[in-house]
Parts: sequence; structure tokens; C-alpha cells
Amino acid sequence: MKVFKFGGASVKDAAAVKNVANILQDYKTEQLVIVVSAMGKMTNALEKVVDAYYNKTGEAQALFEEVKQFHYGIMQGLFEPGDEAFDAVNDTFVEVEWVLEDEPAESYNYIYDQIVSIGEFISTRILADYLNRAGLPANWLDARDVILTNNSYREALVDWQMTEKNALKFVSPMLKKGFVVTQGFIGGTSENFTTTLGREGSDFTAAIFSYCLNAESMSVWKDVPGILTANPKLFKNVTKLDRLSYREAIEMTYYGAKVIHPKTIKPLQNKNIPLYVKSFVEPAGAGTLISGETDTHYPPIIVVESNQTLLHISTRNFSFVAEENLSRIFALLAKHHLKVNMMLNTAISFSVCLTDRPKRIEALVADLQEDFKITKDSELELITIRHYRPEILDKLKVGKLVLLEEYLRGTVQIVVKNVPEIERIASQ
Ligand code: ASP
Repeated sequence: MKVFKFGGASVKDAAAVKNVANILQDYKTEQLVIVVSAMGKMTNALEKVVDAYYNKTGEAQALFEEVKQFHYGIMQGLFEPGDEAFDAVNDTFVEVEWVLEDEPAESYNYIYDQIVSIGEFISTRILADYLNRAGLPANWLDARDVILTNNSYREALVDWQMTEKNALKFVSPMLKKGFVVTQGFIGGTSENFTTTLGREGSDFTAAIFSYCLNAESMSVWKDVPGILTANPKLFKNVTKLDRLSYREAIEMTYYGAKVIHPKTIKPLQNKNIPLYVKSFVEPAGAGTLISGETDTHYPPIIVVESNQTLLHISTRNFSFVAEENLSRIFALLAKHHLKVNMMLNTAISFSVCLTDRPKRIEALVADLQEDFKITKDSELELITIRHYRPEILDKLKVGKLVLLEEYLRGTVQIVVKNVPEIERIASQ
């Protein structure tokens, strides 16, 4: 069997859903688990509904109406009026409307997962029904019946043992009857509450299914021809990488390459399952193959991650930032769930680059301030260049103030601030 993952852009309107069905026609004879994200930008739209509901702004119902109309618009392009396909979708909408009528009584994260998850429930209902109408037998699977998680809402952790058991029990027999269509991003607790695995988590879902069902391969269908050497929106002359090792892929995605979710690689690597990144625009293209092959020569690969904050932490009494202080700092970073992207220490200071999560960073700084002096710089970019060449680095630094720079084998990382020309001249 194989696992396919289709993201939000691949099902963003009726024509896109038809295109997915066309791609799947070529795999009619295969056993496929098809993991699907919410349509278009519906996860963002549902997040706004949750915010409005939780903060009682009075706009939740109106925002939810926009979500409903977006889906109805797509369905009208796929189904006849009155088609049964509308029933399951309507039921899901009504359930959310009931929630929105009451005052919020649970935690923000719990409410978030119960409401935001409907994006995936609806997209999978629509796709499964459309595939069936198009002559491709498809069974809708509730991902919560398979992916068991703890109750860390919004970043739930998977119980791999139970999930593997469930996958074999529920999915294997279903695959004999046709395609299995299921939601990305979603899991369920042992008490049957819905959880989510973190934003952009659908790739990870596909990797979980691949691992548990010993898939022959997994394919992620994207709006780009494969994995590129840099973001084409930011750089000219980018090229497609035909092959990548798991190692190269995990390094790229960890530092912010957006093509696949960083958690995707480990389960695949652990069972040596090849991962294809392919284009849903040009499905015949070869895409990029990520596999267990040993690294060959790669061209320079540039990953730019914006939205970074740099904390400069120094001891107040001139004591060294040695092991005890470092372990205290790391314990606090873990406590506040902050991801460290880069770090550097001197005798009495420690600098750390974090993805900006303002509330968490504020709480961390409050804790750290008891013992340390802190300076904070925000709105920075972290640029990672793997297999770098000096001339590329020089070009990338133009117009930027470099706040931190680190070299490790063939990789360079710099944390930079964009500075207007006038400030640059003044600081020279
Ligand atoms: N729909 C979710 C998100 O936008 C999960 C995903 O698409 O991977 O974050």
C-alpha cells in the first residue's frame, strides 16, 4: 500500500478537487490511504472563529458563516443540489453552531482543537464523496479511530503502539474495499476528545500511517515541482533537487524549509520508506525522492526563516555561563515550549535564536530575569545555507545587519536584521 497526502492548496476550490480525482484515476488499482488537509486557508479562518468565540467579540457566528459559505461554494461546483454529500457537512456545521451558542467554558487549547479540526473533517467528506461519484470507491476514515494521542491540546503526542494496533485493525480491511480517505492533523484521546498535532501537521499524519501500515512509499502532492534549492518567491535561479537523503531533508526542514513538516522524516527513515514530493499541477513530473541513500554532492541550499527573536542572556554577577546556568536556561526553554534554532555562548553570556512566540517568550524572560540580564531583538531572519559557498554568503548579507553567525562543516547560519540604507551607512 501507499500513502498520499494532499495539502490545503490542492483542494482549495472545486476545480482543484476535480484535479485530485484526476490524479487518483491513475492509481485506481493501488491500495491507497489518502490524507487530506483543510481546504485552502480554512484552518486560519477557523482559528479566527475560535479567537472570536473565546474572547467573546460577538463575531464568531459571522466568521463561521464565512467558513460555511466557502465550503458550500466548493460543493456547488461538485455536487447536484440536494445531493446526500451535503448532509454530513451540514451536521458538522450544526455541531459547531451549537458550541458557539454557549459561553466558552473550557480551556482555549481544548476549544481550538474541537473547532479547528472540522476543516479536515469537512474536506475529507467532500473529497471522499466526490471520488465515489467519479467512480473511484473511497471510504471515509475518522482519523481519531486510529491516531491515539495524549491530551496536550494543539500539540498532542502520539501513542505509537496503540496507533499501530488501530491502523492494522481498522485501515487494513478498509483498503481492500477501495481508497481510504482520512484527515491530516487530527488525533483523538482515549476519552474520545479531538486533538491536533500542531500546525501543518498533515504531513506528519501521512508519515504516521506510512509507518504503522509499512507503506511501500509516501507521496506529498504540492504546488511546486519538488524540493527546491531555495524559496522561489525570494530567490532567482532556484533548481529542483531530484534526490535527497533523509538526513539532508530533516536538516532542511528543521531550519524552516516549508516543503514538508520536519516531524515527517523520522517515522519514514525508521522504516526506510521512500518519500516523494510531487507536483499536483504537473503530476507526471518526477518530483523529489527522499530516501535512505547516502549523501552525494548537493548544490547550496538556502532556507530563510523569518519571525525570529534573539535573546542575549548574561549573568548579572560576572559568573560564567557554565553547565549549571546552561541547564537552568534549557529547563526554562523546555518549560515554555520554545524551539531553539541557533545558540552561541561566551564566558558570561548565552545567545539563543527562537521562533517568535511572543507570549511564551515574555514568560521565559520573566523567569530568566530573576538571575540574568536579558536583551531581546525581534523581527529577525534566520538564514541557513547548507553546502555554502563564500560568494553566496556575501550576497545574502547585503542590506542586512548580522547579529549572530555560526559555521559548522558545510553549513552556515546567520541571524540578521534588515536595515534601511541610511542606517547602514551610519553604522559603517
Ligand atoms: N490544516 C492544518 C494547517 O493548516 C494542517 C495541515 O494543513 O497540514 O495547519
